[in-house]
Amino acid sequence: MSTTKKYVFAFEEGDGKNKKLLGGKGANLCEMTQIGLRVPPGFVISTEACLAYLDDSDRRLPGGVMDEVRAQMKGLEAKTGKSFGGRDNCLLVSVRSGSALSMPGMMDTILNLGLNAETLEGLIAQTGNERFGYDAYRRFVQLFGKVALGVPDHEFDTEFEAAKARAGVKHDVGLSAKDLKEISERFLEVVERVTGKPFPTDPYAQLEIAIKAVFNSWSGKRAVDYRREFHITPDMANGTAVNIVTMVFGNMGDDSATGVGFTRDPGTGENVMFGEYLTNAQGEDVVAGIRTPKPVAAMKEEMPELHRQLLELRNQLETHYKEVQDFEFTIEKGVLYCLQTRNGKMNAVALVRTSVEMEKEGLIDKRQALLRIQPEMLEQLLFPRLDPKAKAKAVAKGLPASPGAASGIAVFDADRAEKLGRGGQKVILVREETKPEDIHGFFASQGILTSRGGKTSHAAVVARGMGKPCVAGAEGIHVDVRLRQAIVGDSVFREGEMITIDGSSGKVYLGEAPMIEAEFTDELVTLLQWADDVARLQVRANADTPDDAARAVKFGAMGIGLCRTERMFNAVDRLPIVVEMIVAESIEERQAALDKLLPIQRSDFKEILKAMAPRPVTVRLLDPPIHEFLPTADQLVDEIEELRHLRDTARGLQVLSDAVDFIARGRGAQPQAQVQHNVDPVLVEEVIQKKEAMLRKVRALFEVNPMLGHRGVRLGLTFPEIYSMQIRAVLEAAAECQREGVEVHPEIMVPQVCTAQELKRVKTYVDAIRHAVETHYGVKVDCKFGTMMEVVRACMRAENLAEEAEFFSFGTNDLTQATFSFSREDAENKFLPMYNEKQILQDNPFEVLDVKGVGRLMELAVGWGRGTRPDMKVGICGEHGGHPASIKFCHRIGLTYVSCSGPRVPIARLAAAHAALTEAASGTQSL
Ligand code: PEP
Ligand code: MG
Repeated sequence: MSTTKKYVFAFEEGDGKNKKLLGGKGANLCEMTQIGLRVPPGFVISTEACLAYLDDSDRRLPGGVMDEVRAQMKGLEAKTGKSFGGRDNCLLVSVRSGSALSMPGMMDTILNLGLNAETLEGLIAQTGNERFGYDAYRRFVQLFGKVALGVPDHEFDTEFEAAKARAGVKHDVGLSAKDLKEISERFLEVVERVTGKPFPTDPYAQLEIAIKAVFNSWSGKRAVDYRREFHITPDMANGTAVNIVTMVFGNMGDDSATGVGFTRDPGTGENVMFGEYLTNAQGEDVVAGIRTPKPVAAMKEEMPELHRQLLELRNQLETHYKEVQDFEFTIEKGVLYCLQTRNGKMNAVALVRTSVEMEKEGLIDKRQALLRIQPEMLEQLLFPRLDPKAKAKAVAKGLPASPGAASGIAVFDADRAEKLGRGGQKVILVREETKPEDIHGFFASQGILTSRGGKTSHAAVVARGMGKPCVAGAEGIHVDVRLRQAIVGDSVFREGEMITIDGSSGKVYLGEAPMIEAEFTDELVTLLQWADDVARLQVRANADTPDDAARAVKFGAMGIGLCRTERMFNAVDRLPIVVEMIVAESIEERQAALDKLLPIQRSDFKEILKAMAPRPVTVRLLDPPIHEFLPTADQLVDEIEELRHLRDTARGLQVLSDAVDFIARGRGAQPQAQVQHNVDPVLVEEVIQKKEAMLRKVRALFEVNPMLGHRGVRLGLTFPEIYSMQIRAVLEAAAECQREGVEVHPEIMVPQVCTAQELKRVKTYVDAIRHAVETHYGVKVDCKFGTMMEVVRACMRAENLAEEAEFFSFGTNDLTQATFSFSREDAENKFLPMYNEKQILQDNPFEVLDVKGVGRLMELAVGWGRGTRPDMKVGICGEHGGHPASIKFCHRIGLTYVSCSGPRVPIARLAAAHAALTEAASGTQSL
């Protein structure tokens, strides 16, 4: 191993832009130092050192690292005038993790390193504050013991709680110097008992162990789970850096404090400094939620000059980083230090608002405003809220820590939450406070409820980052994890009972409260307008009903890319007519049913066209196999069987009734309807015959592989009267709109096409019907004719199909199925999860477009199609049309539009803008 490689960088020399090498925190500490902010002196050990260390089978630090560290420590001694390990004026440091991407709370940090019996004595003598000294010491022994020596937390907690009980105090601040001294001694004993070795006293030995422990935490379970969940690849962050920073103390008395701040409100995006602080406390007290902190606004009264300095710091950070910052500060005896800064994690509401406002303030441009929001984040804005009209009565109130509302069953530990959540249950994780090791429970929950801690507690920060609702510090709730229940006033909710939390108001409800859909904010409208201005792809919606269409318009859809007409057939008033059409024995019978369907379809199309006018609406002709509208054979057999019993019983009842009448007459009495027999056996017989006819039809329609069978255009060509009715309904609807002065642009699309001949034939129906409709209504109808591209052969014959089709729309659900030969109905719950887990396939191809296979086919088909028809409109209407990475690919191969479900339209609009903006930055790449 080379000994000349530089692994360690002083804050004055590290490159503040090189986060991969120095980690986010380290790079920012270097940058802040270099732009003149007051940062405690320190240095960074690079991520390269971490990787080399983790690679070494004997887990040794790379050669030279400790020499560099010693040299840097000498530098710190010179800068601070303190001495590391010296009795008088001793230098204490923190040892902090920090990788290229922020992984809050996922890795370890050790504070107050350098303390031992001797330096502690010096510290006490120097500060004249015994309590402070022992407090620092017990914190160090606990953290070092836990992180570096692997002593379980509860070993310390038990001692600590016992000491508090002995002292008769509720809060840590109530503990005296003597109590803390005793606690430190017990903690040292705990370490020796659990590890079998005395606690290390040599400061350099402590430092080396701590550096290794932080490096090890990169491969700890929490960190690995977090990277997996957030798809953090080595490309994005590889290894953690270690930051060694001179300790400054927020617990040196009432002129000391510690806190965390956001340059803007991360819950709403409002341009006000947001944060919390605690006087006479250390950072972990704020984050762990042990004492409830005060809002930074309160500092204005308590420490006006420092509040002014904090505002100045906030402004400097934003002006420099041009991004909302999440920073930590400590005030030591009236001097304000910035301990760290990073880009603030915000929910979508705040991201959108800050994007628009920072652009208006001239801090960022529109491009930056768009690119700083990941499209998927917008999904949060489409989260339901509690319906204010429902007037549900809250049973408790905590802090509104992460907005949005959620209902789920209460679960009191992360493991169970994970288990139940993965099993498909809606879960609310309920804890007194959360810790980083609860992270897996967060992933599986709808929301988080804690009874302790502030808006910057672990639960709040993590939930906000994930966009999950969180109510924190609901102190009226007494959580009893052991009994798996929580007591709120006179009510109790137990594990498994439904509760609702509203992270926007902080309220907690028993049961499931009614929710309403989210609405667009003005800022979102502005942002998406900017997105549309730069995007090349248009975004349409898949919408099947007039209601869906109206909603899609609200989401900014530029048309309908797929209207699945069969969905209309399933409505209660239509299904009987559809069934009548299917079981018809003659063309006349079928036509009679179709004649009843025509006005219904026409009126649906008319409403959809009007809702979207003047945007285009692509109507797909009937696609599924028609047996899907009928009951199954098994179901029918059972029903017929029961009906036969009913018929026989009804007949028996009739015989009985006649007999009773006869006997009554014999006795000279009036016959009375003594036996109830309301069921008419003749009627039952009629129903049986109908069901039997249906069963015959179902059996006749049976196919082994219906999804590859008699469906789509194949069905349309077998029963031309069905497609003719639908084509007529579309064209008549359009003609009626046109006559009413509404500009409409329907597009008729044929599903499952594999040859140009199929298209040619359907086109003849369209031409003939269009002629008749135009003559009848006396208007010209603008209607394009096109095809779905969801069969491999269609892609290979795109050149020929383009002679008939004016547009192509890739049905990537079926095209994926056809390209992989994976059944789309079964693959996802049979073998695909295993394929993903074993990395046989990286993604689920039904979710993320398989660019290498399906995408390749698409790219070829686009090229061939446009070879024949250069102005050919090409879209995608499979599920991938709403997936950002797939949208990027669609942009790259030159599609005209993507079409996705209504609520995903905003996401797709932003993704389309990202595709255009990042292409401009990186140049067009080919596959
Ligand atoms: C498709 O196959 O991608 C498609 C949109 O059609 P459906 O999902 O209705 O088969
Ligand atoms: Mg399809």
